[in-house]
Amino acid sequence: MNPSIKSPTCEIITIGSELLLGQIEDTNTTYLARELGREGVTIRFRTAVGDRLDEIEQVIRSAIDRCDMVITTGGLGPTLDDLTREAVSRSAGVELEFREDLMDGIEDMFRLAGYQMPKNNRRQAFVPAGGYAILNPVGTAPAFIKEVKGKPVICLPGVPRELKFLLDREVIPRVRQRFNLDEHVVTYRVLKTVGIGESKVDSLIGDLIKPGQNPEVGLLASMGEIKIRIAAKARSEREAHRLIEPVAEEVYSRLGKKIYGRDDETLEGVIDSLLAENGLNLAIMETFSGGLAAQRFHSLPSSRLVESLVIPDEKQVALYSGNEKSITERETAMGLARKIRKLVNASVGLAITGFLKKEKGGGYAIKGYAAATGEDIEKGFPWEMGGDLFTLQQRGSVIGLNTLRLALLDIQGENKK
Ligand code: ATP
Ligand code: MG
Repeated sequence: MNPSIKSPTCEIITIGSELLLGQIEDTNTTYLARELGREGVTIRFRTAVGDRLDEIEQVIRSAIDRCDMVITTGGLGPTLDDLTREAVSRSAGVELEFREDLMDGIEDMFRLAGYQMPKNNRRQAFVPAGGYAILNPVGTAPAFIKEVKGKPVICLPGVPRELKFLLDREVIPRVRQRFNLDEHVVTYRVLKTVGIGESKVDSLIGDLIKPGQNPEVGLLASMGEIKIRIAAKARSEREAHRLIEPVAEEVYSRLGKKIYGRDDETLEGVIDSLLAENGLNLAIMETFSGGLAAQRFHSLPSSRLVESLVIPDEKQVALYSGNEKSITERETAMGLARKIRKLVNASVGLAITGFLKKEKGGGYAIKGYAAATGEDIEKGFPWEMGGDLFTLQQRGSVIGLNTLRLALLDIQGENKK
């Protein structure tokens, strides 16, 4: 932990009754949180408030009390329900000040567009006294920064395009300077696991997850994958990596092969590399997952996949595997993996099998089996799962691919011995 790296805290306030009515999606907060987070600012609160002067003032005051900086979006337009300027003035205990230079800028904007400026827009040339005004070349609403109780309150327009432009060009450089963020870098490492549930990951590394630590460890779950994010703040990229390294090692030592890759690596990419390293190619046969496993290889620029086949029908599968009499799931899956491997003369065959059963409640259940086969390779994995169609197919394809990955790691291990 490096105590000299202190991250400024920030509250994001989005202003506009449309937000509270659910008429528009608040993409501004997401954008601001991501961009500021990248600069080393810690977002502590995100607040939405309607177009009511007293309530906007109230949330601005409380944000100033609990954070090092405040950033607002919206309410800078020319109409009477655009109240941000007024609310900030009140929170700061100052008057609004008419700024000739802003007026000229806004008038120019209208002239360039070939319009007469409506009277209303005069409102936009007012800024809380002592505030720093930022002309907006991509819209009419000027933005501004007003220091209140020694903390910057940064007010940006609501229109996402204008917000992005001003944030990038005007706000980030000032925030970096104001809080000495030039000396900070925030670096992440993401470790990706598969074949393990979120609660299991939590029980194995939960003690490392303490918000506010440097480095900070967090979990993110999606479709059969759990990502572990290790974020570090430091004065340089190298120092940040030095902080991340021991934490990453600890996570690796506890989760081992459950971690399939890091950062931008994908499950199919990792498998493809393993195949390439061993001079192998691949053929896949799927039933209920409808080709999802094979499809992932098509997103790679080139791959070791030479053939894929989908047979959704149970009777057809039996015919294909030459086993019309009842056999075990393992025998079916192994049989199919061998069959496709042989059929196209591939070095590795993977079968992901099982048949969806419709449940009473409307969902589905599956008894799945994944089988990987090849020279020195024979690995099977059974599972049972219930849920909606999309989830079962996605997770089935991931389980199948992971079975193959583990089989390939086994031969890697053998070769190293
Ligand atoms: P304008 O001068 O355009 O009126 P403004 O600063 O007053 O700018 P608002 O009137 O509050 O901004 O919002 C303008 C438009 O920007 C909204 O109609 C909406 O489409 C979009 N917008 C506002 N707030 C958000 C938000 N939080 N997330 C995404 N879009 C937003
Ligand atoms: Mg407006």
